[in-house]
Amino acid sequence: MSARPADRLTCPTCGEPLVFEILDDEKFLVAWSCVTCGLIRTTEPA
Ligand SMILES: [Zn+2]
Repeated sequence: MSARPADRLTCPTCGEPLVFEILDDEKFLVAWSCVTCGLIRTTEPA
């Protein structure tokens, strides 16, 4: 199955839902972090 909601990501390491935090709303830079294992990913759309 390839169902992947665009507004919700899950941690690739532990599978927990990631919480997102807006770092810079002008550049639309968003950080996704996992509260379980501490993984942090940032997205910066072109
Ligand atoms: Zn995790």
